Amino acid sequence: MHKIDLNKPVCVTGASGYIAGWIVKYLLEEGLTVHATVRDSKKASSVAHLWKAAQGTKGTLKLFDADLLKPGSFTQAIEGCDWVIHTASPFVIKGFKDAHEALIRPAVEGTANVLESCNAVESVKRVVLTSSVASVYGDAVEILKAPGGVFTEQLWNNTSSESHQPYSYSKVMAERKAWEMCKRQSRWDLVTINPSLVMGPSLTAQTQSTSIDVMRDLGSGRQRTGVPMLEFGIVDVREVARAHVLAGLNENSEGRYILSGHTASLLQMASLLRERFPKYPLPTMQLPKFLVKLVAPIAAGVSREFIQRNVGYTLRFDNSRSVKNLGVQYRPLADTLAEHFAQMIEDGLLKKR
Ligand code: NAP
Repeated sequence: MHKIDLNKPVCVTGASGYIAGWIVKYLLEEGLTVHATVRDSKKASSVAHLWKAAQGTKGTLKLFDADLLKPGSFTQAIEGCDWVIHTASPFVIKGFKDAHEALIRPAVEGTANVLESCNAVESVKRVVLTSSVASVYGDAVEILKAPGGVFTEQLWNNTSSESHQPYSYSKVMAERKAWEMCKRQSRWDLVTINPSLVMGPSLTAQTQSTSIDVMRDLGSGRQRTGVPMLEFGIVDVREVARAHVLAGLNENSEGRYILSGHTASLLQMASLLRERFPKYPLPTMQLPKFLVKLVAPIAAGVSREFIQRNVGYTLRFDNSRSVKNLGVQYRPLADTLAEHFAQMIEDGLLKKR
């Protein structure tokens, strides 16, 4: 495994994003020089929080323009870096017509483009890729067949496709591409961070991340009539960001790391939030699966197959590698949710009540 030279810059792709904002902040606090890539560095709303994060730190922030779909566009930002953290990838699960163009091409071709740039730049020794538990499993029902009834880093999602769970498909195909390209050379090693649903305060109100939609749907009253029994692994955004930094700094880090602190259903999340935000129209009941199957295709644009394979299952994730090998410490779920909710109220993404 490679030791990272802290005097060299580190490149973070997709720096404008929800998770990447915290990664950049922690790297700057470590005193590192960060080459942060964004699609448009002149767009103040994408980068203002990064400049704010840099204030008062010993680190140096440098912005670069790069697009996942433009081969070679990351090379300049990666030049001189020992270490590249590749987070950029669309995290949307609805609102698109063509899953291939919206998700799969940017995720897979984008990863290949970033790694081609790593191949082209001699200084690169390590790549940390933001993958997902979506790369470990496709649908919740797969927990029934998981060895020991728990999802581990040994498992791979073999069930998603362009038409069923396309976001998950984009993640597993991108991670597979990354391992394939890693094996074809010997200069840089690869570590993947595989988070479950990321929650917790965002440094920016601008992100399109589905994490924010999940919270907005709970707090806005949209789901006040009830929610399906959908369970998620959940992890705080600050733990996920910290894990990316630790994966780079710890020369013994290797392979895949599931990042997941807790599991909770939508209703359990709502109950935790209600304790601290009693005035909000949070859901109070769970809808029966047959009803969800009946209404969800029209009400939420979700397929019956998705409901069949994901509603009603209790999940378990093995996070022991992240704790033992990276030293991640998971904070209480109630704090993560409450701090996220408070930030969204503060930033005007949820009404003040
Ligand atoms: P996010 O805030 O939407 O960040 C996604 C980033 O990808 C944005 O910075 C976006 O840049 C960039 N991006 C999208 N298309 C691009 C393109 N064509 N070229 C260059 N950049 C592009 O979402 P996030 O939640 O932080 O997600 C970051 C990473 O974590 C993704 O790889 C996601 O799959 C992974 N992940 C997220 C979760 C979660 O629950 N949030 C869980 C597991 C894994 P713009 O600002 O220019 O749009």
